[in-house]
Amino acid sequence: MKSEKSGYDLIVIGSGAAGMMAAITAARAGRSVLLLEKLSKIGAKLKATGGGRCNLTNTLDNESFMARFGRDGKFMMPALDAFDHRALMGFFKEIGVESHAPDGYRVFPVTHSSQTIINAMRDEMERLGVEVRCGERVVTLEHNGESVTGVKTPHASYSAEHVVIATGGKGYPMLGAEGDGYLLAEATGHKVTPLYPAMMPLKLKEKWVTNCRADTIAKVELRVDMKKYKKLHATGDLIFTKEGIRGPVVLDFSREITPLLAKYDEVPLLANFTKGMNEEQIRAHFKEAIRKSPDIDTLTLVRTLLPESLSRELITLASCDPALTLAKQQGSSRDRLIKLLVATPLTVNGHDGFKMAMITRGGVHLKEIDPYTMQSRRLGGLYFCGEVVNLDGPCGGYNLQWSFASGYLAGQLKQ
Ligand SMILES: Cc1cc2nc3c(=O)[nH]c(=O)nc-3n(C[C@H](O)[C@H](O)[C@H](O)COP(=O)(O)OP(=O)(O)OC[C@H]3O[C@@H](n4cnc5c(N)ncnc54)[C@H](O)[C@@H]3O)c2cc1C
Repeated sequence: MKSEKSGYDLIVIGSGAAGMMAAITAARAGRSVLLLEKLSKIGAKLKATGGGRCNLTNTLDNESFMARFGRDGKFMMPALDAFDHRALMGFFKEIGVESHAPDGYRVFPVTHSSQTIINAMRDEMERLGVEVRCGERVVTLEHNGESVTGVKTPHASYSAEHVVIATGGKGYPMLGAEGDGYLLAEATGHKVTPLYPAMMPLKLKEKWVTNCRADTIAKVELRVDMKKYKKLHATGDLIFTKEGIRGPVVLDFSREITPLLAKYDEVPLLANFTKGMNEEQIRAHFKEAIRKSPDIDTLTLVRTLLPESLSRELITLASCDPALTLAKQQGSSRDRLIKLLVATPLTVNGHDGFKMAMITRGGVHLKEIDPYTMQSRRLGGLYFCGEVVNLDGPCGGYNLQWSFASGYLAGQLKQ
């Protein structure tokens, strides 16, 4: 193994949003920086973000932004104070990338291409003299018990006064992040919380969903039907798949479900597919439809609220006859149908693991990191940023903003 030139001020591990931002920030302050990336190209996950369009951030104020990360969201206050969405948009403008929020909320580069972001960061690193080495997987963190001294890859060892771990999570492992950062952290005595795949499709026990595949339902309300977790709920668009559900509401809600699934094997949900209507409103809606066409059959009636395949399945579940009018159904079946329309039971019983998880829930314990510097509380000169840290947000530019902001703070190399 070669011993490479010593004396880098900083080694950054990982060329995602967090790592590149840390490298640029440090280099702008005149530090010598080496960035090590295990894949053959930089920014592989960044490229895939937002369906290739890269939803960089959003326009929420910092308080509302942090609230979407749950109880621990306040940890990110110093990072957001230092680098909020305006600072991020300003940074990209400065390096030649205009960004905008077409819906007033989610921010994208105007090109709607994540490659624009990667190219601009690559050029800025080049301009600043950041040394980028791809195909270099860091396997060991070197330290003297008090401070980091460098890193080892299978090919070489590199020394530096500071090291930033920006290795991402475990989701979509083909895009580089496979959990190495957690191992490096644990090997140096840092606590890592349990890790769960999040932002992913979910599998359901109910076989009928397969008949509804590709049905897209707007503004579905999902809530967990377990006494202890009654407060967990989410609203948004849902799409049925062959084996379960996907779509924006599922992506967001899956962060709550996967830890429960690990504990209970099955997670019962209740879904309202009628844009939040209650029983009374549904009865009134049906009454009005029947007033306009008295012979309307039950299938046509339910189809005024839902797509045909889902209507058929709920009618069958309620033991109603789709061809009869509502008045001709048995009273108990009619009541069951109304109840099902307000709260359809679904049972989550699986998922595809980290393979399809857009983010990881869990990470390096927040107690191990100083939020004002992102420095480890255990080893001097060691910093964490981005998804490797135990913080995860919903869809909508939250996770990238956190990665950029924490990378910016870490790259300042404050002690
Ligand atoms: C398909 C998809 C779409 C997404 N879309 C959005 C979106 O639009 N908006 C949003 O906010 N979030 C989105 N996310 C989430 C977001 O991409 C991540 O949270 C964010 O990119 C994490 O950035 P990071 O820099 O911490 O890690 P990463 O971007 O994962 O970068 C980590 C890098 O470290 C490298 N690495 C790992 N281990 C080592 C090692 N031992 N040695 C050297 N290098 C190593 C990896 O190869 C990788 O390049 C999406 C995620 C996915 C999977």
